Amino acid sequence: MSVKRALTGFAVTALAATALVITPGDNQASTADAAAEDIPAPEEFFGFPMGTTGKLAPFEEIKDYFELVAEESDSVEYEVAGTTTLGHEYPILRVSSAENLARLDEILETNEKLADPRSGLSESQARALAEQSVPVYYLEATLHSSEVGNLPALVDVIHRLSTERSEYVQNILDNLVILVVPSANPDGQHLMIDYFNETAGTDYARTYPDLYHNYVGHDNNRDWIFFTQEESRIRTRLEQQYRPVVLHFMHQAGTNSPRMWVPPFDEPLGPNVDSIAISASNALGAEVANAAAEAGLPGVSTDDAYGIFWNADVFGTGPHRGASLFLHEIASVRDLALPFSNPDGTPPGARDRSMRTFDPYTEATWTLEQIVEYAKLSMYTALDSVAKDADDWLYNNLYQVNQKSMEPDGGPETYIVPAGQRDPFAVKQLVEIFDIAGVEVERALSTVRAGRQTYPAGSLLIHTQQPMGSWVEQVLEVDQYPDAARKCADCPLIMPYSETTDNLPMLLGLTVQPADDARVARTERVSAEDITAPAVGTAPDGGAYLVEPTSYGLTHVIARLQENDVPVLRATEAFQAGGTTYDPGTVIVPATTAAHDTLVEVSELTALPVAATPTVPAVAALELKADTTIGLIRGANNMPGGWLMWLADTYGLNYEVVEADDYADLSRFDTILVAPGVTKDRIVTGLNPALYPEEFHWARGVGEVGWQALASWVGDGGNLVAVGTAAETARELLGLPITNATPGDRDTFNAPGTLINAQFDPAAPATWGMPAQWPVWFYNSPAYRVDDPAAAVASTYPGSGELLASGYAHGQAALQGLANVVTLDVGEGQATVAGADITFRSWPRAAWTIVSNALYNGPATTVEAAARLAQ
Ligand SMILES: [Zn+2]
Repeated sequence: MSVKRALTGFAVTALAATALVITPGDNQASTADAAAEDIPAPEEFFGFPMGTTGKLAPFEEIKDYFELVAEESDSVEYEVAGTTTLGHEYPILRVSSAENLARLDEILETNEKLADPRSGLSESQARALAEQSVPVYYLEATLHSSEVGNLPALVDVIHRLSTERSEYVQNILDNLVILVVPSANPDGQHLMIDYFNETAGTDYARTYPDLYHNYVGHDNNRDWIFFTQEESRIRTRLEQQYRPVVLHFMHQAGTNSPRMWVPPFDEPLGPNVDSIAISASNALGAEVANAAAEAGLPGVSTDDAYGIFWNADVFGTGPHRGASLFLHEIASVRDLALPFSNPDGTPPGARDRSMRTFDPYTEATWTLEQIVEYAKLSMYTALDSVAKDADDWLYNNLYQVNQKSMEPDGGPETYIVPAGQRDPFAVKQLVEIFDIAGVEVERALSTVRAGRQTYPAGSLLIHTQQPMGSWVEQVLEVDQYPDAARKCADCPLIMPYSETTDNLPMLLGLTVQPADDARVARTERVSAEDITAPAVGTAPDGGAYLVEPTSYGLTHVIARLQENDVPVLRATEAFQAGGTTYDPGTVIVPATTAAHDTLVEVSELTALPVAATPTVPAVAALELKADTTIGLIRGANNMPGGWLMWLADTYGLNYEVVEADDYADLSRFDTILVAPGVTKDRIVTGLNPALYPEEFHWARGVGEVGWQALASWVGDGGNLVAVGTAAETARELLGLPITNATPGDRDTFNAPGTLINAQFDPAAPATWGMPAQWPVWFYNSPAYRVDDPAAAVASTYPGSGELLASGYAHGQAALQGLANVVTLDVGEGQATVAGADITFRSWPRAAWTIVSNALYNGPATTVEAAARLAQ
């Protein structure tokens, strides 16, 4: 696609940003839509112009406005596309000409046909279809709820598109269907904007101090591999339903970032994203930068930010369907909506003129009005550009990109998930992820042959030559961070904007084999619901049910059994039953009706097999404390803590967040989990009561007294579990005899979000159920030299050989032989620390087993299984 300078279009656009917005009462019938007089201008509806310093409209009012516009205008439709995590509506708008909206089904069908590489279209047929159809342009604001300036700009844009009938607007409406997502996180709009308005006129800080997505906060833009949150699933569904050619995501960056940043994107570029999808977004960014220069809006930068096309956690699945990801980032102001100035009076942002920043910003302040102005320039320019080239966008992004997904690309033809994996729940979750992403999975009904290898019936096959095949490669291949990610041959390696790997099999604990030439007589298409366990048998009175410890889904089993008051025992040694050897950590429960019914239910959920035996095995065991009560120290606005809440809610754990007042008496907790990111300062100092109102009392500091109370609680018999950087907090709290021995200097040692090989002792209670060797998630995490021979070291990094499993690591030999998971006695109590970041965004699912073990085992008591269950 050519980069067309939209001079004519932009002349109108630039003017419109200030003067051409039509308001009811303006006598401009020749350019105003018939509906214009019934649609109030935003200023009239909200009581202030959009983007007024210090003024933010509540999301409910913005929804009301959009509903009103949709009622009055035949160019705008309003729909609720789903329900959010906290139960709010997730609204969308469709904006196009009345004629296009009337034939929307036909447009979407045509676009689907263009994008389907199996539709058998020739190039000329595809060209002809592209000429008949209209592309969808996806326009999204406020995924990040503290980035409040893009939505008011969007309100102005919708008002203009629904009321003005200039040549400029008509071109957009005739040639695009704009799918508008006013907020990709409506919950956050309520939390953030309502809080801002409620604190007006107080001495409180105006920015909401906690996670603006209930579980994941700002990480809601890092959920495009696992799709854990409802909002991530809604967006993915919309992308599949509407097949956009552009995904225009509007964001804000820090106060001293460029005034606006647009593509071209930075290195590194992964191997699996199509060149058209990338180059078209880069071209669009260049057009917006050009438009800003023409309009005299300074401080726009390109090129040196957001190398996001390495790991699918930020860019998602859209580019694999042909959508060009067009991201703009506008500098933020102070306290969401108040003017920002540097304390020294220097202009914010880059000050040196360069090819990346043609026209540095020279004013001392930056305001919400300016954010809105820049956002409108970006939207008006990009919409106009795509509308003028609509046929090319359809042909190139939908037809050409997707056609290539059926061609060999040098990667493996097939990934095989051999039957008989140690964790059936992980298999089920992998298939569920593929279901959401739109990846086709087949199950072999007979033996699979690939080269000299054979795989049994029941193995899964995922072909890379399918519509989402490039994404399949993205998340299944072992990542080797590119040495070419440099500005020049001698320049330093550019570190990724995000993590260095997204390898799903290693995260989930699955063995997946790449293969060419896989041959199998019969297969069937499967989805997650087809991954099931054999029916649960019935054990006779005096017998027992057994569940092997090799699945992270075991947490579901334990939590559900505890909820239903079924005693849960875990064998502390290997034993035999029914001709099978069971590993340490195997769950043993009595043959009661409650146990049976619970296990039937949880086995359906997890696909975990449950064995019924006629006798209780005579084996030493830990009996978990009934109703084990877990406390979570999470910290305000601490994303790892939010992810832990999501995991705990998903697994159904009996947990509560530990609040400031709880430190006076922690005795009701059996076990306390400290989230990564929780430091001594967060616990001791916490949120300042002068700056945050009573509702955040829970996150206030507990002082040295509270800190000591936590230490005493452990020493008096409590069980503390600390993950990632919180391992250091636990060390400091309890004076643990461990020393972080990783080099702090990033030139010497750097492993920023990577998978590192580790060893596990399956006989150690903390690592029951883990394989002897498996990669762990490592984010420049602590790794320990253990100074107490009595400490139970359950996981270490190998003393020799390759440590890097997938991603990037430099100087990883420094980790050799260091400890990862250690359990230590502390007075009457216990602490288990895991230095590696094994709860990171819930991704390292396989390693969740360690957290689960540590949480439940600490408060457990030693019993003999047969004797105990004979009682
Ligand atoms: Zn953002």
